[in-house]
Amino acid sequence: MIYLDNNATTRVAPEVFEAMQPYLTEHYGNPSSAHSLGRKMKAAVERAREQVAKLIGAAETSEIVFTSCGSESDNWAIGGYLEQNPARRHIITTRVEHEAVRNLCEHLSQIGFEVTWLEVDGNGELNLDDLRQALRRDTGIVSVMLANNETGVLFPIEEIGKIIREHSDAVFHVDGVQAVGKIPISLKEIEVDLFALSGHKLHAPQGVGALYIRDGIELPPFIIGGSQERGRRAGTSAVANIVGLGAACELAVSFDGHDEIERLRNKLEDEILQHIPNARLNGTPDRSKRLPNTSSISFEYVEGENILAHLDNLGIAVSTGSACRSTTKQSSPTLRAMNVPYSAAQGAIRFSLSRYNTAEEIDRALKVLPEIIDKLVQMSPYDSELQALKMSPR
Ligand code: PLP
Repeated sequence: MIYLDNNATTRVAPEVFEAMQPYLTEHYGNPSSAHSLGRKMKAAVERAREQVAKLIGAAETSEIVFTSCGSESDNWAIGGYLEQNPARRHIITTRVEHEAVRNLCEHLSQIGFEVTWLEVDGNGELNLDDLRQALRRDTGIVSVMLANNETGVLFPIEEIGKIIREHSDAVFHVDGVQAVGKIPISLKEIEVDLFALSGHKLHAPQGVGALYIRDGIELPPFIIGGSQERGRRAGTSAVANIVGLGAACELAVSFDGHDEIERLRNKLEDEILQHIPNARLNGTPDRSKRLPNTSSISFEYVEGENILAHLDNLGIAVSTGSACRSTTKQSSPTLRAMNVPYSAAQGAIRFSLSRYNTAEEIDRALKVLPEIIDKLVQMSPYDSELQALKMSPR
């Protein structure tokens, strides 16, 4: 399989698996137990906490709390902060957040909170004046992702943090799930209060994530029960998974192949855009403002689902956008927010690379893709651009 769907999930790195294995076999104690096996497990969890803190540049390891996934971290950060500060009824977020934030904010808007949804432009970028204007005295939390899961567009969280500090006393939550391990992050140097990450996006297993809670920010426990995670999230720690997350973070700190991933991504993107006439890039063409591993490309007048199926038949895995949405038939809210016309949004394919992709794999994808697109264009129900525009719901 040529796996170009690494923003959906990543392969567990062999080094990560190796680090986890003893915690699934010989080290089976409960980290809350007082005996030596328990203490060994606890030490492993604390070591993982240090490894996570180091990768994201947290000032203190106590600022890291282990969770089960990125969605949990996002939900806890936003829901928890608002629960803790009931007088603050206003939330600011963007139109292009992942469902973990977007659907939670939709829900909060239905139960009495007011949500300001910041718009993006055609490149998927924010206008920071909109944020300045949206901040209010009762704004409790601003939630902005660092990297968009579909387009890879990066939001300037350093600048956003400064604006929030200058103009309000709202807290700043960042969904960092797609960025961690792909670009450098140093939270102690920027004004971020809450930061979510997820193991399975950086070669750790599924089922483990973390929430960074800046020292001084109070959140109610996400799970009420025992004293695990210093009473902030009860439930027996998933030690093997946590060890896996720690190992993946350590691997990411020493990883020096980012330029090669970017080179392969650039080659894929450039050649598609050059050789396939109905291909257009989604997201800013300025690559310094995008993740180095991601390309979202629309093939106008063809269905993304059909492209995906043809590629899959040839052993190439891609996504039509966010993986969570592939089972529904709606076009992506992110692409809609960017005003991508319906005829292009329906044909969007996300290619997302990892350290395990090779030049040969990219060459193979580049070889088969033009033929697939050409075949689908011939069969397209859109027989002219004019008709496509007529079919557009916009
Ligand atoms: N946030 C972003 C930007 C994501 O891409 C994802 C997953 O795709 C999530 C949150 C949710 O993470 P998880 O799958 O670990 O719940």
